[in-house]
Amino acid sequence: MKIELENLTKRILGTGNFISVDRNKCNRCGRCLIICIMNLWRKKDDTIYIVDDYQSKCLECASCYQVCEAGAINFQYPVGGTGVVYEKG
Ligand code: SF4
Ligand code: SF4
Repeated sequence: MKIELENLTKRILGTGNFISVDRNKCNRCGRCLIICIMNLWRKKDDTIYIVDDYQSKCLECASCYQVCEAGAINFQYPVGGTGVVYEKG
């Protein structure tokens, strides 16, 4: 599924960082790891983080933001004209 989605989209550079985690708010529930269809979230040494190159794969679905009940995920859609472009479907 992940590969198929990548093939249906392209990315326009220049988004900057549009997702970040407040480690003081994160309770390490793991919801973001489960919900992200692109598998961009990681847990290591009891710390949750998003992969460094998430901008090149993120679908900007905001699901991670929606499921984070702790309010630890900051999400803003990238500046207009940058980010994901759905070419098909
Ligand atoms: S959903 Fe939010 S609180 Fe839960 S692990 Fe992810 S960032 Fe942390
Ligand atoms: S916005 Fe969607 S694709 Fe991007 S990191 Fe969050 S859940 Fe994953």
